[in-house]
Amino acid sequence: MAFSFFQKIGRAIAGRSRVDDDTLDAIEEALIESDMGVDTTLKVIDNLEERVDRDKYLSQDELRGMLREEIAALIPPSGPTQLTSSPYIILVVGVNGVGKTTTIGKLAYYWKNQGKKVLLGAADTFRAAAVDQLDIWAERAGVDIIKQQMGSDPAAVAYDTAKAAVARGADVVLIDTAGRLHNRIDLMNELTKIRNSVRKVVPDGPHDVYLVLDASTGQNAFAQAKEFSRATDISGLVVTKLDGTAKGGVVVGVSDRFGIPVRFIGVGENIKDIKPFDKDSFVAALFNPEDI
Ligand code: GDP
Ligand code: MG
Repeated sequence: MAFSFFQKIGRAIAGRSRVDDDTLDAIEEALIESDMGVDTTLKVIDNLEERVDRDKYLSQDELRGMLREEIAALIPPSGPTQLTSSPYIILVVGVNGVGKTTTIGKLAYYWKNQGKKVLLGAADTFRAAAVDQLDIWAERAGVDIIKQQMGSDPAAVAYDTAKAAVARGADVVLIDTAGRLHNRIDLMNELTKIRNSVRKVVPDGPHDVYLVLDASTGQNAFAQAKEFSRATDISGLVVTKLDGTAKGGVVVGVSDRFGIPVRFIGVGENIKDIKPFDKDSFVAALFNPEDI
């Protein structure tokens, strides 16, 4: 994966064999530009500085290795959700346009290909096109969908979906939501209502709440993570649109700052453009020689 934000970091250390203030400044600038956030960037730089004080002269490989280690250390244990119960219900939240519906379509396809029975719930009843859009993804992925009319109660759709999941023996259920950030109380109430109606059918559900963030929005993603974490318990992140953005440091910054595991990353608009997040390969790709 040769993302453009990795190239900047690679360039920052290319040709430097001594870790002096200039080198640290260049790395700091590249991390800030990638939208890793100031707090996380300073942690990386401080830890790096502490380590290199003991050993000022480093090979390029050593410096890259250390930077990878320091960045990896800040990402909480991550990776795709293990489907530990059946039906395993995942609520998908996030503001309009970040890629929730697209992500649900891709995840439906991902789990279906692993032999899982997938069911979608169209609880974004707010926009006219939202239900139709999820319908199209259900068809593409070849999975079932539970829906009602536009404007109907999202909690009622979530209830129907949970009921159908149990009746049909679904393994994994993905519930789409509207993600209106009109105000925190309304958002909290709406998400709580959806949760409660799932629980009437599946008492320990929803088993996961995925917050979808668009990497290309940079610092906005931090503000969204803050608002949604206040409104409900977020148990995983999906960071979309990592294809062709220079802002991919968001993955590291948001997961570090909010302590939320990264489940998947979105790398395009097609059904296969989703990858289970693997922190080791993510940091390994940080400065591949071909990226520099
Ligand atoms: P929602 O409002 O959160 O449900 O967002 P949608 O799923 O409707 O997606 C909004 C737009 O983002 C659509 O044009 C998608 O094709 C696009 N999109 C979603 N995920 C990705 C991704 O990983 N990469 C790119 N390039 N586009 C994406
Ligand atoms: Mg949508």
